[in-house]
Parts: sequence; structure tokens; C-alpha cells
Amino acid sequence: MKWTNTLISTQRDDPQEAEIPSHRLMLRAGLMRKLASGLYTWLPLGLKVLRKVETIVREEMDRAGALEILMPILQPRELWEKSGRWEAMGPIMLRSQTHGGRELALGPTHEEVVTDLVAREISSYRQLPVNLYQINTKFRDEIRPRFGVMRSREFIMKDGYSFDLDEAGADRSYRLMYQAYERIFRRCGLEAMAVEADTGVMGGKESHEFMVPAETGEDAIAVCPACGYAANVEQAAIGAGSSAPERTAEKLEEVATPGLRTVEELSGFFSAPPSRFIKTLIYLAGGKPAAVLIRGDREVNESKLARRLGAAAVLADGETIRAVTGAPLGFAGPVGLTGVEVLADYSVAAVADGITGGNREDLHLRHVNIDRDCPIPEYLDLAIAAAGDRCPSCSGNLAIRRGIEVGHVFKLGTKYSRSLGAVFNDERGEEQPAIMGCYGIGVSRTVAAIIEQHHDEKGIIWPAAVAPYQVLLLALAPDRPEVAAAAEDLTVRLSGRGLDLLYDDRSASAGVKFNDADLIGIPVRLTVGKKFLQTGLVEVKARNSDELHAVPPEEVPDLVERLLGQA
Ligand SMILES: [Zn+2]
Repeated sequence: MKWTNTLISTQRDDPQEAEIPSHRLMLRAGLMRKLASGLYTWLPLGLKVLRKVETIVREEMDRAGALEILMPILQPRELWEKSGRWEAMGPIMLRSQTHGGRELALGPTHEEVVTDLVAREISSYRQLPVNLYQINTKFRDEIRPRFGVMRSREFIMKDGYSFDLDEAGADRSYRLMYQAYERIFRRCGLEAMAVEADTGVMGGKESHEFMVPAETGEDAIAVCPACGYAANVEQAAIGAGSSAPERTAEKLEEVATPGLRTVEELSGFFSAPPSRFIKTLIYLAGGKPAAVLIRGDREVNESKLARRLGAAAVLADGETIRAVTGAPLGFAGPVGLTGVEVLADYSVAAVADGITGGNREDLHLRHVNIDRDCPIPEYLDLAIAAAGDRCPSCSGNLAIRRGIEVGHVFKLGTKYSRSLGAVFNDERGEEQPAIMGCYGIGVSRTVAAIIEQHHDEKGIIWPAAVAPYQVLLLALAPDRPEVAAAAEDLTVRLSGRGLDLLYDDRSASAGVKFNDADLIGIPVRLTVGKKFLQTGLVEVKARNSDELHAVPPEEVPDLVERLLGQA
């Protein structure tokens, strides 16, 4: 392909709106253009990459036995009513109406549609298992779209759904998809790690996210360098801390704290760091109050709390807090607190000389010795993991890393098969719900994640498998007949090897061409110009190396293939 016959418009300057490298480089290299907030047009160069990622995804899904289908993006309200998600999805789901007044959603996900399909197509155990996937556009009305295609309103996703006879089958489908995802991301040139993820309160048994480590990632991952444990911080378990420190022997003391409620305000008042405070939060779970104790510098993980309490936990209102503690919001404490279940996080055990609320308006207590003043029978894991916390599976300490979520595998159970009627008759003729799993890959986001992991200050460095072209041929002085002839000769030699070549035939300066070559990041660059005219040698350079090779034209194809093998 000649550069002058395609539409590649590069930009020298960084676009102001772009905060992260992939967003910046996708605009500058001319991979995409913004239509409106969170909406992008893929240009030819970018679309070639997107299609290559899609091909890898499709090949690996097919290899794992999944079947490709294509479902409508518009979905009727009635299906979402059946699953109970028409309301539950909230404003993230864009809704619309036909001229006949029929309500539709622009699909943010496809559990309802695929389960309805399977409900109609499957009736006997002989037809299962089945695993269906599509590569399609999704729409989510993000409040704050950002980072280009990393968090856009409209995006390309591969979503797959498995239906099995029993738990053992569902486990097998899950493992197959997990392994397929490992291959997909490896083939895309991504170093991705599978981390344990939160399954939420509403069903779901096991879940892994595939994360690409990157400083710009929106997700935080807790990892243990000692044993390899890795989990989303929303999910990460924390091991019990070491033995409690020596407690204070000073007497418990009441201190008037008029109007001081937050740890921040009190920390200043007492000249004590937040880690000296025992924060007492009143939650409501299933209509029942519970008091949660956590160190002042830590945050409660409400998923962990919900699992412990067996119901979703929400912070209680002022009236409930007063009923439970006898004081308004901001003055709760564990000393003398009765008639309510008290749950204490591991972090509280490390408070040696504590400060906490006095369960009376404008009153706090200091010199709290927790073993003496309000003994805790058992400390629990209730906090959001933080750096330095004990690993739950060894004696190491957790570190926190940033990551980009590119894939997610999830054991769904029977939530959707029950509500949408995806049932089958088993061998005894009894009706059973299919056991489901769902598996997503953000295809457009994967392109951005590849750039986050493969770029330098000059531009993109595409891994060969997803590069828009494998070879970029620069002709300096392309108007010279000898140069044009050499370019033609190289094009023939390389296309004979099945290599995809972009020929920069513009009459731009050498500086512009070299800069653009680095920016768009084609794995191997060939240059024919003045030097070629003098020596007959072609300059060959890999984008991921500074080494320059000079070889006669007949040796170029072998060298290019060798360099591509390393890209
Ligand atoms: Zn560990």
C-alpha cells in the first residue's frame, strides 16, 4: 500500500484532551478521530490493528469450541424486566423508543438476549454444553468517558456465554475460556495477569479479571511478590496481622470534642495520626444494624462486609445511628456499645493507644486499650487491601499495582437461566436450569492497552502480530527513477513472502518521514535513498531496537523475517 493512496494523517503535537500515552498516540498516529465525547471513528490504520486483534480473539474462541453468532444491539425492555435489570442497570444503559412506543435498550451487555436465545433453542441435555460468542458494538453511557477508547461510550467487545449441564461442566467451560484468554493476550503481545475479582453480592461464584499492568490503569491490583497471589483490591483478601502491640496502661479519658466528627478534624485536634483512631461505622444489612470497627486510616470493603453479614451493607442513616449509639453521626465508639453486632477489622488490633467516639454528642475517648476497654473476641478481614498488608496465602506483604482490565471471566450460575427460562430436560426427564458462565474481552480497549505497554517517547512500537503493516518502506527522493525502481523491487520481494508493506512514497523531507515512522510504529523500517544509490545497500531497522543493518536487496526478506520474529 502506498502512503499517498491511504488516509494516514499524523499530528506533530500532543492533543490537549489526551491524558495517557495510548490516547495521545492513537490520535497523533492517525488511528482514530473523535466524533463526540466517548465516540470515535476508527481510521484505516487503526482499523487494521483492531481487525488483527479481532482475528486473534476469533481464532482462539473457535479453537476452544465456542460458536460465533451476532446479536442485535437494540434489545427489548421485556427481556430486561425478566432478569430484573431494566431498573438495576441505572443510567449506564441508554434507553430509547420505536415510533410505535416500544421501549428498547442499547445493549451494554447481552446476557438477556443470549439466554433468551438458548431458552428457545435448547430443550434436552443432549444439546449441551454450548458456548456462544459475538464480537459486536456495546454502548454504556459513561458519566465521564475518558482516555480515548479505554473508557468510551461505544466500544467493540467480544462477549461469550457458556451453558452447561452441571457444575463440573461449567468449571470445564470456565477453564477453557481462561486458557483461551491467556493465549489471546500472549498472541497480542500483551503481558497480562489473571487476578481474582469480586463476584458481587448477587450470585456468581468465581471470577478472574485479565489485567495489563500499567501505571495509567484505572484498576488497583493487590499482588504478593513472594507467592504470586493477585487480586483486584475490591476483592483482595488480607491475612491476619502479627501479634498485637503492647497496649497503653494509661487510664481511659473522656475529651470534649464539640462539633468534631471526622477523623481528619479529630486528628488535628488530638495531634494524632489517623492510624491512632478506631473508626466506628454503623451499617444496615438486611434491615439489621451492625457496628464496624476499622483503623482511622483504612477503608471498609463493603463486599467483604456483605459476605460476612449475608446481605448488602449500606451505611446507616442518622436516626439509626442515634438509636444504636445514643449519639448523632460522628461520635460512635466501641466502648460500652451494646445491643448491636460489632465486627472489628484486623487493622484495629494494631491500635495500641486509641482514640474513638464516646457514644455521646461532642464526646470522644482517648487512651483506649482495646483489650481492656472493649475486648474483641475475633478480628476479621473487612478492609480494602493496601500496600504492606499481610498476604492471605503466605507470610509476604501485598504490594499495590495499577492495571488495565482487558478481559473478565465469570461463573454466573443459574441467575439468568432461571429468570429467562434456559432450562433443559435431564436424563430422567426432569427440568433443570443451565449453568452459565460469561466471558468478555474489551477488543478496542485491548488495542489501547497494547500501546500502553509498547511505546516510547517517539511513538508506538507495535508487536508484529497486531501491527497495521509489518514493514514500512521509506523512499527518500522517491522521484529519482533508481530509488523508485529499488522500492518496486523490494515491494515485489517482500510481498512474495506474504509480508504486508506500507510504502511511504510522499515527497516529504527525510526528517518528517523518520518521525512519522517512529510515531506509527511499524515493526521493521526499510530505507532507500542517497546511501542506496552510492552503495547498493538497503538500510534495515527494527522499531524496537537502535541497531541499523545495511544489506543488499536480496538479503532483505530474510532479515525482515528474523526481525519480525523478535518484534
Ligand atoms: Zn503471598
